[in-house]
Amino acid sequence: MIKKILPLKFVSVAMLFFLTVNANQLLAQNQSSEELPSLKGKKILMVWGGWKGHEPEQFTYKLKPLLEKEGAIVTVSDSLGVYTNKKLMASVDLIIQAWTMGKISQEQEKGLLEAVRNGAGIAGVHGGLGDSFRDNTEYQFMVGGQWVAHPGGVIDYTVEITDRKDPVTRGIKNFNMHSEQYYMHVDPNVKVLATTTFNADHSEWIDGAVIPVAWKKTYGKGRVFYLSVGHVAKDFDVPEAMEILVRGVKWAGASKYLPQEEWVSPVYPGK
Ligand SMILES: [Zn+2]
Repeated sequence: MIKKILPLKFVSVAMLFFLTVNANQLLAQNQSSEELPSLKGKKILMVWGGWKGHEPEQFTYKLKPLLEKEGAIVTVSDSLGVYTNKKLMASVDLIIQAWTMGKISQEQEKGLLEAVRNGAGIAGVHGGLGDSFRDNTEYQFMVGGQWVAHPGGVIDYTVEITDRKDPVTRGIKNFNMHSEQYYMHVDPNVKVLATTTFNADHSEWIDGAVIPVAWKKTYGKGRVFYLSVGHVAKDFDVPEAMEILVRGVKWAGASKYLPQEEWVSPVYPGK
């Protein structure tokens, strides 16, 4: 009797082990597709400067401790010259730029664009990424959009979450801002996560116009994340705005580690 039972027990234990391993693998796959990558050990370069009205320094130092809390190793620079530091630029996982308008030299732009093409992510908000160097079209090609107007200046508007599946915006409800509502020219090949709808109060011909507020895209191997809220640092006292920003940063910081997500022309029908 014992001899007959033992092999049966062994088979059962082996099967149980096999099933458990498979269940764990499945769970891990589900988690990795649903959760955002961690910032633990990621090297982030935060660059601030340009037009002071956007409070780039305050913004940078408001975000920095949240990223460090997540385990990121953060370097801060207030000079575009950092983009010419080849060794540093090759080592960073993510660049967070807060630099409205201003001028970037050819060499600095080359250093930035090359780093992103080679797999560093880039993230930013408002004019700090979306209205940085108006003369530089290749830079704008990377960002995927350019600010053109904020009718009425600081007004009340609503951010509408349009992608409720993407981990960057999943579970976040529509929210209100008292700030500049950015009207942007946007590359139709970006993946839009949130939008805002304009009314006729300040420019009647754009009544009902829907313009992206948050998007993700790629440039070369690098992930690009943009959020148009953030006229002043206190915009990020709105919890939804800060949450989307931190999640977008997590997503963008992983281009060197995760496969490229692909989406092209979601707006217009293809061939
Ligand atoms: Zn502004």
